[in-house]
Amino acid sequence: MSTDRTRQRSAALFDRALGVIPGGVNSPVRAFAAVGGDPFFVERGEGAYLVDVDGNRYVDYVQSWGASILGHAHPAVVEAVQQAAVKGTTFGAPTEDEVRLAGEIEAAVPGCELLRLVSSGTEALMTAVRVARGFTGRDRILIFSGCYHGHSDALLAAGGSGVATLGLPASAGVPAGAVADTVVAPYNVVPQIDDRIACVLVEPAAANMGLVAPAEGFLAGLREACDAAGALLCFDEVITGFRLRRGSAAELVGVRPDLWCFGKVVGGGLPLAAVGGRRDVMEVLAPLGPVYQAGTLSGNPLATAAGLAVLAELSDQDYEELAGRVARLAAGLAGAFADAGLAAEVPRLRSLLSVFFSSAPVRDYEGARAAADTGVYPRFFNAMLERGIALAPSPYEVAFPSLAHGEEEIERTIEAATAAAREIAAP
Ligand SMILES: *Cc1c(COP(=O)(O)O)cnc(C)c1O
Repeated sequence: MSTDRTRQRSAALFDRALGVIPGGVNSPVRAFAAVGGDPFFVERGEGAYLVDVDGNRYVDYVQSWGASILGHAHPAVVEAVQQAAVKGTTFGAPTEDEVRLAGEIEAAVPGCELLRLVSSGTEALMTAVRVARGFTGRDRILIFSGCYHGHSDALLAAGGSGVATLGLPASAGVPAGAVADTVVAPYNVVPQIDDRIACVLVEPAAANMGLVAPAEGFLAGLREACDAAGALLCFDEVITGFRLRRGSAAELVGVRPDLWCFGKVVGGGLPLAAVGGRRDVMEVLAPLGPVYQAGTLSGNPLATAAGLAVLAELSDQDYEELAGRVARLAAGLAGAFADAGLAAEVPRLRSLLSVFFSSAPVRDYEGARAAADTGVYPRFFNAMLERGIALAPSPYEVAFPSLAHGEEEIERTIEAATAAAREIAAP
């Protein structure tokens, strides 16, 4: 393992990128602003590994933010995409694979009766909001601080701390009017839900502020409050769907929503996501109903081929094995931090985990922010990167071990973490 990783070509590419792309990247977290240093540019992926343009190899825990649950360039996915490409990459007309993929997802998600395929999680959430508003005839939606629901205007709302508040724009360029009907509440506390709310959107396990599991009774409380107010409940499972298990987190948590959004895993690493749910609710969508939604590339044949290939590879046993390996990884990381005397929490839920440099368990965004504010994560990230382990370049992201991460990669990661933790704990 090289500790002297040169990244000359990456540096040169980043320089060029800065001249032609805002900040040099096509999605902000990739710029490494939260961890310092310049990003590496990827030459290729191989299972659990990334190889950068300077030839450095990293065990990759980003895996395209969870889109690659089989690891990079899995042969079954590569072959499916190649075969699909030969037949044409997009038609703007229906294909059999769309029907098959929608059917596979619905079969694994009880209660999800109709499903529309779109091209990104952002689009899926945007559509869920419009469907809920169209179905209920209400305007307000409710979201939770620290959950991420894509980058559409209405969902880029920031709340106050501690209580549910009407949202403020969380980004320049979002008009106050676009978030005027967005209520933002703290995660893990059941908020007041009244008859002005069309829909409550929630990540059933929050995975965009590090990993924050739902507190006992939180999701069941939301279900009850939504029912009492005639509001819809939507699980944003763009991360959790088909990652924690085959299907939805609903069965894990024992709460069934009215709507679901899927993405990442179900697209097999290609641009695909989906919004689905109760038949009577989904029937408001055009051409059946009055709620408009469309997409030139929706249900794209390369993406559906990749999604189907991934779902065909994933058995219940795979999920169990992955969860077991991730449990060993979480225990190893927690041990490494304890050894070095670093205050850290390593929350895990089946195959997801994250690291909070905090001495208290994190239950919400305020806790996640306090952990990020310790400033330890960037040092850990860089100490790991030097040792050939690529974690997410932000303290607010989770790790996405894939099925390609075997015992060897898990062991290497724990060894690297042990050394990295000692290094950053040294006075
Ligand atoms: C990634 C993500 C989205 C947005 O999906 P994109 O494909 O990036 O638009 C929405 N919700 C959650 C929970 C996500 O993690």
